[in-house]
Amino acid sequence: MITKILIANRGEIAVRIIRACAEMSIRSVAVFAEADRQALHVKRADEAYCIGDDPLEGYLNPHRLVDVAVQSGCDALHPGYGFLSENPELAAICLQRGIRFIGPNAEVIRRMGDKTEARRAMLAAGVPCTPGTEGNLADVAEALSEAARIGYPVMLKATSGGGGRGIRRCNDPEELEQAFPRVMSEATKAFGSADLFLEKCIVNPRHIEVQILADTHGNTVHLFERDCSIQRRNQKLIEIAPSPQLTSEQRTQVGDLAVRAAQAVRYENAGTVEFLLTGDQVYFMEMNTRVQVEHTITEAITGIDIVREQIRVASGLPLSFKQSDVSFRGFALQFRINAEDPKNKFLPSFGRITRYYAPGGPGVRTDTAIYTGYKIPPFYDSMCLKLIVWALTWEEALDRSRRALDDMRLQGVKTTAPYYQEILRHPDFRSGRFDTSFVDMHPELIDYSVKRKPEELALAIAAAIAAHAGL
Ligand code: ADP
Ligand code: ADP
Ligand code: MG
Repeated sequence: MITKILIANRGEIAVRIIRACAEMSIRSVAVFAEADRQALHVKRADEAYCIGDDPLEGYLNPHRLVDVAVQSGCDALHPGYGFLSENPELAAICLQRGIRFIGPNAEVIRRMGDKTEARRAMLAAGVPCTPGTEGNLADVAEALSEAARIGYPVMLKATSGGGGRGIRRCNDPEELEQAFPRVMSEATKAFGSADLFLEKCIVNPRHIEVQILADTHGNTVHLFERDCSIQRRNQKLIEIAPSPQLTSEQRTQVGDLAVRAAQAVRYENAGTVEFLLTGDQVYFMEMNTRVQVEHTITEAITGIDIVREQIRVASGLPLSFKQSDVSFRGFALQFRINAEDPKNKFLPSFGRITRYYAPGGPGVRTDTAIYTGYKIPPFYDSMCLKLIVWALTWEEALDRSRRALDDMRLQGVKTTAPYYQEILRHPDFRSGRFDTSFVDMHPELIDYSVKRKPEELALAIAAAIAAHAGL
C-alpha cells in the first residue's frame, strides 16, 4: 500500500487530495512556488517544499517534481488536474524512478491526449465519433476540402487542446480560412503543438460525460454521467449529476459506451469519457485521463470517494465494489465560483479575500483553498471555490443551491456567484432542458442589473450568437 504521496498540484485539488491522504493515514507532501507560500495546500500537507521563485515553472517541471518525491521518501505522486496531469513524460519519469503515478500509464495518457488518435481508437472499438478528419490537417487547403466533405458548420480543434481552448466554430470557408492560422498559433503557444483537425459542429448539443474507474485486475466500472452543458466559451460553469435530461435507456447507452471506450485502451485508474448528445445521437468527443474538476458531484450521488479509489488502484488493490454495487441517489450540482466579474466580460478579479464564510447546512459541500485574508495570486486559474449541493429531487436541489449561494459570503473579489443565482431562477434551467447554447442565448442573465426591452433583448441575443459563431 502507498504510504506517502507527493501532490504535484496546488489550490483546491491539492487540498482535496490531502484530505483523502489524511483519511487513509497516508502522509502528504505539498510543493509550492514562492507565490503560493501562504496557500492552503502548503498549510494542510504534512510536509511542503518550495519548488522555485517562478510562479509556474516548478509546477510544470516533471524532473523537479519527481526529484522532490524521491528525496522526501514518497512512494507515489498524484498529479491532480491541469498542469502536468495529462503529460505522459511525468508518468514515465515516475515509473523510471520507482514512484507510483496515480493515473493511467504514459502510453494511454499520450494516446488519449492526442484527440485524433483517440478518435481512431474509438472508431476501431465501435464507439461512434462526430464525423471529422481521420488525422491532422496538413494545411488550409486540406482543411477547406475536408470541411466541404464534412459539411458546415465545422469545429476546428487543436489536437492537443484542453480547458476549452483551441476550439473554433467555422460556419463557412471564409471563416475557416481566417481561423486556421489563428488557432494554429494559439495551439502552439498553449499546448506546444501546431496540430489541428476538423470535426462536424454538432449544433446546440448536450455535453454528457461518464466517470470511469478501472483497476489493475481487469475490472472497469462506470459511476454514471454528468451533464456539463452549462458552459461559457466551451468552459464548464455548472455541472449536474445525474443529467436531468437523459432517459434511462440513454443512461445505459452512454455508460456502456464509456466502459467499452476505457476497455478498448486498457484504461487504468479514474478517467472521464466525454460525449456530445443531440436528439438520440451520441458521439464520443474526448477522454480525460485524470481526476476531473467535477468529480465531486459523482461522489455526492454515488457515495464513492473517487480520489480514495484512485489511490487504492495505484497501490494495486482491486476496486472496492462491482458495477452492480454502484447506484445513485438524488441530484447534485457543482457551481464553479470563479474570481471573475460577470458584469464586466468575466474579467479576472484577483486580490485579497477580505471575508469568506463557507455555506453550510444539509447537502452542502465546498472544495476550496481560499480563506479570509488570502490573496488570490494572478498567475493561476480564476476558479477559487467549488460549491457542491445535493438533494433528493431536482427541485429541492435547485432550491438548496439558491439557499447555499445566498449563505456564502465571499468579499474582496468579484465572483460568478450572482450570475449563478440568475441561472437558477431561469425557467429553461429549472425545467432541466438545456444545451451548450444556454449561456449565449441568455445574455440578459449576465447583464442582470438591467431590465431590457424585448427588442433590445432580441438584438443582444443575435449579437451573442454571432460572437459565438466567430469566437
Ligand atoms: P475538467 O475537464 O476537469 O472539467 P477543465 O477542462 O476546466 O476541467 O480543465 C481543468 C484544468 O486543467 C483547467 O485549469 C484547465 O485550464 C486545465 N487544462 C485542461 N487541459 C489542459 C491542457 N491540455 N493544457 C493545459 N491546461 C489544461
Ligand atoms: P477540451 O479538451 O478543451 O475540454 P472538448 O473537445 O472537450 O475540449 O470540447 C469542449 C467543449 O466544446 C464541449 O463541451 C462542447 O461544448 C464544445 N464542442 C467541442 N466539440 C464540438 C463539436 N464537434 N460540436 C459542437 N460543440 C463542440
Ligand atoms: Mg473536454
